Amino acid sequence: MASARRLLGRLVYGSRYDKVPWGQRVYVRPGERLIREAQWRGLLRRAPVVEPEDYRASRPLGEIEEFIACTLCGEERSQPLFEPTGEDAKWRYHVVRCPSCGFLYRNPNIRPERLGDLYAKGYSKFLTGKYAANRQRRYRLTMDAFSPVFDDGAGRRLLDFGCGAGLFLELAEQRGFEAVGVDLSPDSVAQANERLTRGRAYLGSPEDVPEIAAGGFDVITLWSVLAHLPRPLDDFRRFRELLAPGGVLMILTVNANSLLLKAYGSAWSGFTKNHLMFYSADTLPVLLRRTGFAGAGFAPFYGDTIEAGTTKLPDSLRERLRRTVEATDGGNMLRAMAFADEEAITRWSGTREVRRLRAEPAAAKQEPLDLTGT
Ligand SMILES: [Zn+2]
Repeated sequence: MASARRLLGRLVYGSRYDKVPWGQRVYVRPGERLIREAQWRGLLRRAPVVEPEDYRASRPLGEIEEFIACTLCGEERSQPLFEPTGEDAKWRYHVVRCPSCGFLYRNPNIRPERLGDLYAKGYSKFLTGKYAANRQRRYRLTMDAFSPVFDDGAGRRLLDFGCGAGLFLELAEQRGFEAVGVDLSPDSVAQANERLTRGRAYLGSPEDVPEIAAGGFDVITLWSVLAHLPRPLDDFRRFRELLAPGGVLMILTVNANSLLLKAYGSAWSGFTKNHLMFYSADTLPVLLRRTGFAGAGFAPFYGDTIEAGTTKLPDSLRERLRRTVEATDGGNMLRAMAFADEEAITRWSGTREVRRLRAEPAAAKQEPLDLTGT
């Protein structure tokens, strides 16, 4: 398959784009976006919609797994689409699409009580070295993209959910935040606490730690965590409760609307071993609305080298990449800011367009129409 794709690229585009990094090629080759979008629509049309009994009968179920319905809308039927497989076939899972709301998720999924099994010893080794430097660069770029939220943390409390080895908590401290984190990996939490000076990382869930369970956070961050959550509705209701009035929740996760997914299918980089659910700018707002958030704003993702200005792409291709990402919100990552309430929208949205999530009548009741203009 991979070699067939390479051959096709060679036939259509010659060697003109050989120097463009693999992850950027589909964004800069002329016409490729339209081709991939058409292929995607064709795939969705052709994929059969399967009844839950038939689906369960057709798939093996691992010891720590369970079959689930669509988390966002409860739909039980599904469209089997992908079968990501790790190198050397060390792992493999099935990804389906909800025919009602379009949500993409792993089915069977992981039993929540067995989630810790995925993050037992050894997980933290991925979080250091060159990986750490790249991670922190990505954090900085995303903090900038959501300015003014992260500009000045003085007097503000921040919770990093799934804090790993504390790479982001360290940056949050530098920006003045009173920062705490939680994580399921004991090794990571130990590393984080070595890294931090004022902040503190805890092992477990927010409700296990009185200081965190008390809530009152101005900012909660989920860096590459959302795709790992088997019960996002429960988690997001808790996040909403933990936020202070005017609070915001920042999310970075793989983008289920990525052009790279449409191009590479099961081989997409977002289908990593421990990912369970895959959100887009269409499906994430459903989760946020159902868990009591007032609004959502998005920052398109162009890639770290483009945003950091270190890319070797010529200007013309860089511009084309930007246009391709913006045309369909097709960047490889999804970056979102969820606003707890109207106060949060007023204070932190900046110039960003905000999608209101509450039903209109309720919002109108809360806040009388202001005709004076702002
Ligand atoms: Zn659904």
